[in-house]
Amino acid sequence: MSGLGKGIVSSSITKIMLMHGLKALPMKFDGYLNYDCGTMNPFRHGEVFVLDDKGEVDMDFGNYERFINMDLDSSLSITGGKLFSEIISKERKGEFLGRDVQIIPHMTDFILNKVKSIAGDKKLDIMVIEVGGTVGDIENSYFIEAMRQLALKEKVAFVNVVYVPELKVVGEQKTKPTQLAIRELMGSGIQANFIVCRSERALDRSAKERIALFSNLDEKHIIDNTDLKSIYDVPASLIGQGFDKLILEELDIEGARIDNAELSKWNEYAKSISAKHKRTVKISIVGKYITLRDSYASVKEALTHSAGVEAVNLDLNWIESERLEGTSDNKIGEILGGSDGILVPGGFGSRGIEGMIKAIKFARENKIPYLGLCLGMQLMSIEFARNVCGIKDANSGEFNPSAKDKVIDLMESQKDIKSKGGTMRLGAWKARIRDGTYAYQAYKSRIISERHRHRYEFNNHYADRLEKKGLVISARTLDGNIVEMVEWKGQFGIGTQAHPELKSRLEKPAPLFLAFIEASIGKENRP
Ligand code: GLN
Repeated sequence: MSGLGKGIVSSSITKIMLMHGLKALPMKFDGYLNYDCGTMNPFRHGEVFVLDDKGEVDMDFGNYERFINMDLDSSLSITGGKLFSEIISKERKGEFLGRDVQIIPHMTDFILNKVKSIAGDKKLDIMVIEVGGTVGDIENSYFIEAMRQLALKEKVAFVNVVYVPELKVVGEQKTKPTQLAIRELMGSGIQANFIVCRSERALDRSAKERIALFSNLDEKHIIDNTDLKSIYDVPASLIGQGFDKLILEELDIEGARIDNAELSKWNEYAKSISAKHKRTVKISIVGKYITLRDSYASVKEALTHSAGVEAVNLDLNWIESERLEGTSDNKIGEILGGSDGILVPGGFGSRGIEGMIKAIKFARENKIPYLGLCLGMQLMSIEFARNVCGIKDANSGEFNPSAKDKVIDLMESQKDIKSKGGTMRLGAWKARIRDGTYAYQAYKSRIISERHRHRYEFNNHYADRLEKKGLVISARTLDGNIVEMVEWKGQFGIGTQAHPELKSRLEKPAPLFLAFIEASIGKENRP
C-alpha cells in the first residue's frame, strides 16, 4: 500500500547493510507508464526528486539519499514507462528475431538483465530492490514475477511490508489484512522471508503469533515497524530486533559485523531530531502545494536536519499562499507574525504567486530571516524590483508573458523547447559564490554544486538596477551568465535558483538550511 513507508524500510535496510561494511545500494521499480516523474503533478504524486545526473525520479530516492548519504544515479530507477519504451525500440530494430514479444519471458528477462548488470557494474554485495505499489496490482505484476524468477537463480530475501490496523473501540490489532496480503503474495509464487508490520504500537503476542502462523515463518521473522518519533529512528529499531543478522543469515553472508562507531554516529544525529529540546524555532513555509505535504518532503527534511544540529525543536507553520492574497497587512502580520523564519519553496504556474510575494515583503520589512528556493528566489527578485526599485510591473514571463518588466524570464536555452519531461535545466550545476556575502558565510566555499529544476531565470538586464538598490547577486554560474543566488544587504534573506534541500542528509545538513536555521534562532553569521 502506498504511504506505508516501504521507502523508509528500504532505506533503513540499505543503511544497515552499509554499516556492516557491505556494498549495498537501493533500486526502485515503479509500475506506472510515465517514463519518469518529470511530468507528474506534485499534488498527485508528491515531490519530484532530482538527481545529479538530471534524472527526475520518485521521491523515495530522497529518503534513500538522506539515509545512505550518497549521490545516486537514475539507472537505479526503473519505471514501466522506461521498460516499455526500451522494449519497443528493441523490437523496432528487429532484435527479437521475428518472435512475438511477451511480458514473460521478454519483459521479465529484460528486468532481470538490468538488475544483474547494475549489480555487476557497481560491484554490489547486496541490492535492496523496492517494488512500488501493492501486491495484486496489474501495474507491478511483471516486476513481482521477475523477482520470483530472480530467486530461482540468486540468493534473495523477500520482505513483505504490511499494514496492521488497530480497531480503537475494541483495542485489538487486526491481522486479517496482513493474512490476505501474505496469501496474495503467495499466489504470485513468492514466500516472504520477513514480514515487516506497520502499526501504531508494537505487535501484541497473539497478533505476532497469528501472522507467523499464516506466513509459515518463525516469529523472529515478523518485524515490528511501529510509529516512531522520527523516521531516522527506524534503523536502530530494526537492528534492535536482530533484523540485520537475520537478513545476513538468509542471504548466506558470513563474517559481516556492524561498525558500532558508524551506528552510534547515526543514532546521535537521529536522537538530536527526536529529542525534546528547550528551544523551538518556528518556520513558516508559504507555498502552493501545502495540502499535500509530500510535495515538500525534502524541504521539511532539510529543515529537520539543521534544527537537529542546532538542538532546537522545529515548529512548521504551513501556509497556503493563496490565503495571503487579498489579505490586509494587519492580517498578514497575524498569520506570519510569530515566525522566526519564512521560507518560500519551489513551484510552477501563477496560482498563489501574489501571496508568496506578500510573505517575502513581510519578511524583508520586518527583518525576519528568509530562504527562497528556486521559485522563492525568483519571487524575492520580483518583490525587490517592485517594492524597493519601484518597477511596478515587475513580473516573471511565466505568470505574465506580456509584462513590461520581466525581471524573471524564460532562459534562452528553453525558448525552442516544446516537449515536456526531462527538458528543464536539470541536475547538478556549479556556481561561483562572491566573497563577503551571506551565501559565502553559509557555504564557506567559493565553488559549490547544487541540483536544479527550472525553465526561468533572473533577467540580467535588471541586474544593475536591483544591485544599486541593495539586492546582492551573491552567486552566478561559472561562465557568469546565470544568476544562481541573490540576497538582501545587511539582513539574512537568501534566494537560490537551486534546490539545496535535495542534497541535505541527516549526517550532512545542507549548508544554506543550516545558515537559515541559525539566523532564525539569532545566531546570524554576518558577512
Ligand atoms: N517555475 C519556475 C521555473 O520554471 C520555478 C521552478 C521551481 O521552483 N522548481 O523556473
